[in-house]
Amino acid sequence: MGHVIPFIEFAKRLVHHHDDFNVTCIIPTIGPPSTAMKAAVEALPAPTINHIFLPPIIFDDDDQYSTKSPETILALAITRSLPSLACELKSLVASSRTNVVAFVVDFFCTETFEVAREFNLSSYLFFPSNAMVLSFLLYLPKLDEMVSCEFKDLTEPVKIPGCLPVHGRDFADTFQDRTSGTYKWFVDMIKKFSLARGIIVNSFMDLESGALKALSEEEPGKPPVYPIGPIIRSGSSESDDVSWSDCLTWLDNQPSDSVLFVAFGSGGTLSHAQVNELAFGLEMSQQRFIWVVKTPNDESASATYFSVQNHQKNHFDFLPEGFLERTKERGLVISSWGPQIEVLSHGATGGFLTHCGWNSTLESVVYGVPLIAWPLYAEQRMNALMLSEDVRVALRPNPNEGDGLVTREEIAKVVKELMEGEAGIGVRKRMRVMKHAASMALMEDGSSIKTLSKLALEWKKNQTASYGKTN
Ligand code: UDP
Repeated sequence: MGHVIPFIEFAKRLVHHHDDFNVTCIIPTIGPPSTAMKAAVEALPAPTINHIFLPPIIFDDDDQYSTKSPETILALAITRSLPSLACELKSLVASSRTNVVAFVVDFFCTETFEVAREFNLSSYLFFPSNAMVLSFLLYLPKLDEMVSCEFKDLTEPVKIPGCLPVHGRDFADTFQDRTSGTYKWFVDMIKKFSLARGIIVNSFMDLESGALKALSEEEPGKPPVYPIGPIIRSGSSESDDVSWSDCLTWLDNQPSDSVLFVAFGSGGTLSHAQVNELAFGLEMSQQRFIWVVKTPNDESASATYFSVQNHQKNHFDFLPEGFLERTKERGLVISSWGPQIEVLSHGATGGFLTHCGWNSTLESVVYGVPLIAWPLYAEQRMNALMLSEDVRVALRPNPNEGDGLVTREEIAKVVKELMEGEAGIGVRKRMRVMKHAASMALMEDGSSIKTLSKLALEWKKNQTASYGKTN
């Protein structure tokens, strides 16, 4: 969902500002689409924006689907969906009603460029993450050649163009084992970025000026970069879950800026020990909170990435005994999935303890909610670094050196600091500045909307037929 949502929001923004375009979203699947996925695409304004689900790919027994990382599952889904993608493109291109001016793909899908070439389509990448991660990925093939050890063993931080130096241990999980097949797949995939005619990135100038300036410098094999963000989910989350309406009613009765929202995105899970510490830490902080809780998992920090829709209904046996009773005046606990946008946009919400997924980050920026950065997997450690040390809109708890656990005392301290302390005032102020900058970028003459128009103009030039809508 973290890839699909920004993609379809991008489509909506394009047709809103340039109503002579149509968009067809083609989505590979690994099984029946989740309820959240179906709700998101069915709400699109057909026929201006259509969607097609490709048939689910078949996993062999040898694939050991359940033990694979999200990246590996995505890679398999894309490779095995290429034939069905080709069929769909063939019929789109053959249709007399459409004139396909651009083929825009998620950055995981560079393999599809070859299919697009068969149909003479101009390919663009859509990068739903930030400019820092994009700058890192574009630099990675060079780094791969220069460095022979594991990145986590490098003694000096790596200087990514336009960004803060980053320690190898903070690179995304995929880059922690250079002998793995996923690492090699990733590097090959990134090398194909150069085949794109442009890269659309979900960020904006004032948030990441250093990285975006570095990305705009021309270099052979580096496509032009189009920052068109922040793009976040518009409209309200659909749910008949009463805990959601209870949650929003509860928020209505809290003082402004007083509630900490705690959620780890679609995939993030904590161990039993960490859930325990977090519960005690929230309790000790004496702050108001809403916590979206998932069943703990001791094996993986991304355990629910593809299965978050399978809500377990309010079984909180794993929380410390008496926790719910003791915190009921101050805290609310929601199972699995909460109305994040509604909570972040509510005046009572004054902080967000987040795994630093890029969508969650941009949603906080748009609504001006300061952060506690608690990265778990994928590129989240890099995001956390940028948010706490570069943009300075986040505080960061320190995990234990040995077991990596964040203790209840540390959690209580950082939560109190964000909600009441001096450092909290600082990050809140910075976040308000970013909120203003985000809204300016999206004004008619703002940087992101102007960039979108540039892109639209380029695509219109690709139009050869003199009639019909442009896809
Ligand atoms: N989200 C939500 N309710 C939740 C958790 C997440 O609505 O309880 C939404 C959130 O608003 C965001 C997306 O799910 O739009 C998560 O995307 P992000 O990039 O932050 O993290 P990912 O899930 O990709 O790790």
